[in-house]
Amino acid sequence: MGYIKSIDNWIAKRTGLDGEINQSKLGLYQTDKLRQTIKYAQEHSPFYCKLYEKFDSASLNSISDLAQLPLTNTEDITRQGNQMTCIDQSQIKRIVTLTSTGSTAAPKRIFFSDEDLELTVDFFANGMATMTGEDQRVMICMPCDKPDGIGDLLARGLERIGAESYRYGAIADYDAAAAVMGKLAPDCLVGIPGQMLKLALATPQMRPAVVLLSADFIPDAISKRLADLWNCEVYAHYGMTESGLGGGVECGAHTGYHLRHADLLFEIIDPANGEVLPDGQRGEVVFTTLNRQAMPLIRYRTGDISRIIGNPCSCGSRLKRLGKIEGRYSNIFHLGKDRTISVNLLDEILFSRPEVIDYTACLSNNKGEWRLSVEALLEKRTSITDIEKYLKNSLDIPVRLNTGGGFLTNGTLKRQINAIQTKENL
Ligand SMILES: [Zn+2]
Repeated sequence: MGYIKSIDNWIAKRTGLDGEINQSKLGLYQTDKLRQTIKYAQEHSPFYCKLYEKFDSASLNSISDLAQLPLTNTEDITRQGNQMTCIDQSQIKRIVTLTSTGSTAAPKRIFFSDEDLELTVDFFANGMATMTGEDQRVMICMPCDKPDGIGDLLARGLERIGAESYRYGAIADYDAAAAVMGKLAPDCLVGIPGQMLKLALATPQMRPAVVLLSADFIPDAISKRLADLWNCEVYAHYGMTESGLGGGVECGAHTGYHLRHADLLFEIIDPANGEVLPDGQRGEVVFTTLNRQAMPLIRYRTGDISRIIGNPCSCGSRLKRLGKIEGRYSNIFHLGKDRTISVNLLDEILFSRPEVIDYTACLSNNKGEWRLSVEALLEKRTSITDIEKYLKNSLDIPVRLNTGGGFLTNGTLKRQINAIQTKENL
C-alpha cells in the first residue's frame, strides 16, 4: 500500500524533505508555512486582519519570530469564530459545535473544508499504519454517528491502509459492546480510556494486539491495566477538534507523542505571562495550523499541560515530541498552601486500584473547608472502607466515598472534577 510505518517518513513525504529528516530542515519548512498561513489569514479573515494589522508576514524569519504574535484562545473562537474563517460558507464541508459541560458559555464552532478533512484522513491513515495494517480488524469505539466526524474519518484512513474497520461508536451498553467484540475478535481497538477499561474488564478473555486511546486524558494506570487485562500494546493519541482531530501519536517506545509536524506547529508557553518556554519545561500547549484552509488557528492556547521533548526517541526519530498530557489548567483546584487536586491526580490514584472500575468526583467548599466526594463503581465484593481509607491516605483532603455508576460520555466530554462552592450538606 506504500504506507511506511513511521510518522517521520510520512512527514518527510508530506514536507518534500528528502533524505534524513531532522529538526532544522523541518524548521525551514514550518517557517515558510507560518509565513504563508499568516498572510493567508490576514488576507481572508476579518479577525486575523485586525489582530495582525501591524505585522508583516515577510518579516517572519524563524519559528522564534512567531512569539511576536498575540496568542489566541477558546474565547476568540466562541465570540469571533465566524470572523476567523477564510473561505466562503459554501466551501465549508463540516462544522463541529463544541459545548463544555456545566458551562453557560456559548458553544465553539470549528469549520473545516474538504481539503482540511483530507489532511486529517491522511494523518489517521499514516498514524494507524504504525500500529495496524492490511487485513487487520479495527473496532472503532469513538463517535461514529456523523459523516466526517472522528469515527468516519478514522475509518476512511483505515480503509486506505487496507484495514477492515468496524464503526461501533462510543460505548453505552458494555454487554452489547462485549458481544460485538466477541463476534468480531478485533486485532485493534480505538477508544476512550475509561470505556476501554470497562470493556476489557467485561472481556478479559479477548486478545486484541493493539489498543489506541484518545479523546480524554490518558492515565498511566488505565494504560497499564488494559495492557495486563488484554495482554496488548496500548498507544496514546493526542488531538482535539481544533487541531483537526489528529495531533500526535505514540510510537512503540511510548515516550511522548510523535507530532503531526507537517500540519501543526507546537509551542509551550508560560500560562501566566504567555512567554515561550524552552524544551523540557512544563507549560501550556499552544499550536498553529500550517495548512488549514477553512479556519486557521494561530498560536491557539489549548489549556492542556505538557512539555516538548527535544532529545531523540529510541525509535530513531530526531524530531521533537510532545510529552504526556498532565491535565488542564482549568481543572486544577488550589486548596491553599501548595495543595492542589486535579482529575489527573485522582485518575492515577483511583485507577491504580484493580477494584476500581470507574468514578466521578465532586469538590466542595464549605466555609473555607474543602471536601472531596467520590462516587465509585467498584468490582463486586470490594470493601468500600478499604478504598476510602486508601483515598484518604493518598490525598491531603477530607474524602467521602460512596458507590455510584461512573462517568458517562458520548465521546465529546472529558472527565473532570465537578466543583461546588459552599454546599452545606457535605
Ligand atoms: Zn519514537
